[in-house]
Amino acid sequence: MKRKINRRLRLVTLLAILIVSIGIILVFYGLFEAQVKKDLRTNVKLLTETQALTNTDPRFESLHEDKLRITWIAADGTVLYDNDTDAAVLPNHLDRPEIADALVHGEGESVRRSDTFGINTFYYAHLLPDGTILRLSTQARAISGIFLAALPVILLIAAAVFFICMFIGRALTNQLMKPIAEMTEKLDSPLQTPVYEELAPFAEKIRTQHENILEAAKIRQEFTANVSHELKTPVTAISGYAQLMETEMVSSEQIPHIAGQIHDNADRLQYLINDILALSELDDANLERSFEEVDLYALAQRCCEKMQIHAAGSEILLTCMGSATVVRGVEELLSELLQNLVQNAIRYNTQGGYVIVSVGSENGHAALQVKDNGIGIPEEAQPHIFERFYRVDKSRSKESGGTGLGLAIVKHIAQIHHAEIRLESEAGKGTEVTVVF
Ligand code: ADP
Repeated sequence: MKRKINRRLRLVTLLAILIVSIGIILVFYGLFEAQVKKDLRTNVKLLTETQALTNTDPRFESLHEDKLRITWIAADGTVLYDNDTDAAVLPNHLDRPEIADALVHGEGESVRRSDTFGINTFYYAHLLPDGTILRLSTQARAISGIFLAALPVILLIAAAVFFICMFIGRALTNQLMKPIAEMTEKLDSPLQTPVYEELAPFAEKIRTQHENILEAAKIRQEFTANVSHELKTPVTAISGYAQLMETEMVSSEQIPHIAGQIHDNADRLQYLINDILALSELDDANLERSFEEVDLYALAQRCCEKMQIHAAGSEILLTCMGSATVVRGVEELLSELLQNLVQNAIRYNTQGGYVIVSVGSENGHAALQVKDNGIGIPEEAQPHIFERFYRVDKSRSKESGGTGLGLAIVKHIAQIHHAEIRLESEAGKGTEVTVVF
């Protein structure tokens, strides 16, 4: 990038020098040409007024030194006198544009490129009162000649400016790149690095992204540690019970109990694995999900039917109420969300309690609510219950087959549906979870 900027800068510099040189030469040549023409007129005037053609005026001599060519032409184009060539050998001059012009308009001028490269000949002809024409001509550099003459100076200036620009360009790019390099080195705290204004949003974005990556890595590491810990308990239990049976240290009466324990722990492992798989699938941002119209009420009814048996087992009254409410979503995920909420409402309830699932609209938004009059959640625990593996009462959760992942899954599903979760709960009184779409 640095090299690219420097290359571009050099190119722009060269181009600028070239344009400026051409511009200056053009302007200068315009002025120069005007001056040459003006000098010719002045000299013609001088010659006419002083009648220098017939006398030996010192100013006439000086004209000779200026390498002025003086031609005196008769009205019929015959050359009467020429200070450069013998008049007798010169052809008729009527066809010369400046002579033709002078005969018609009283004066005429023209510029002719001579054979020598870079030299122009300027002519100025003036009609004298006696009908003859006095023509002066002089040779001067053409624009190409001036350019060639100026070329060494132009090249010298170009080289000097080129090196200055290269030096400045290098300093500027270094200055430009320095904060970026520093920022890369101190990615953890790039805002402490002096960053120029234009780079600040970029620096901020990089910093946030970097923080997010670190945070995600930390969460993943914590999650892995938690998963290992959670899996270890049932695996250790299963292994321990199996060992007891293997070494025949248990009586045949104890076998059903031990088999029951192995069964429970295997179930636990299964719940954990299912929830972990569900979460990792929800974490997969690249997974394509098919969104469709889903009737939340129909879904809630099906969920209540399925959970009725669990509710009855704990003597809990589970009711579903509301009306058809359609949202755009993934049916399978919404069903899982409902099931987790209802499962919790039953799991953390008291005997004879109730669970009400209601579906409807709230301020024009589809909403579903799961309300129970169970044990409730203490205020200090409320901000944490959507975290992975967080449980208020670990043993109660485990006893009832909880994994500590149910609400984390609920939160994730709500996020995918751009839905908001509201929790209202009071310890000992009950809990109300509302999901607004
Ligand atoms: P778990 O598998 O342990 O139920 P969740 O993520 O579903 O995990 O819930 C986290 C914790 O939040 C639970 O362990 C429980 O302590 C508390 N909780 C969730 N829902 C309720 C509820 N309806 N009433 C009381 N406590 C609840």
